[in-house]
Amino acid sequence: MTMPDCIFCKIVNKELPSDIVYEDDNVIVIKDANPKAPVHFLIIPKKHILSVDHIELEDKALMGDLILTAKKIAKEKNLKGYRLLINVGREGGQVIDHIHLHLLSGNQ
Ligand code: 5GP
Ligand code: ZN
Repeated sequence: MTMPDCIFCKIVNKELPSDIVYEDDNVIVIKDANPKAPVHFLIIPKKHILSVDHIELEDKALMGDLILTAKKIAKEKNLKGYRLLINVGREGGQVIDHIHLHLLSGNQ
């Protein structure tokens, strides 16, 4: 479930500080440390999954949780519109090897 050298696993386990926006049993939402938009959250499953390329059938509900969490946060924060983005692989712009959904808003 947890990878020792993974930054996001450490954030999930509170071994590294982060600005937590929301948390439940399966998911944590934090503010991006280097925001690319006025609102930039990262929706992170607590389970360590490397990337979209590593999702298994058993992760189907968890992937749905990420999107439902995005919708919940967008509503709570009263966002008018937003973008959801997942980078996959180095050549797809993925830097952190623990799957995460970017929620971006306010830069249209
Ligand atoms: P990726 O390029 O992997 O899709 O996105 C990684 C994101 O994580 C980047 O937007 C980057 O700013 C953010 N990030 C990297 N390290 C940390 C960190 O330690 N804390 C937080 N809150 N965000 C981070
Ligand atoms: Zn991890």
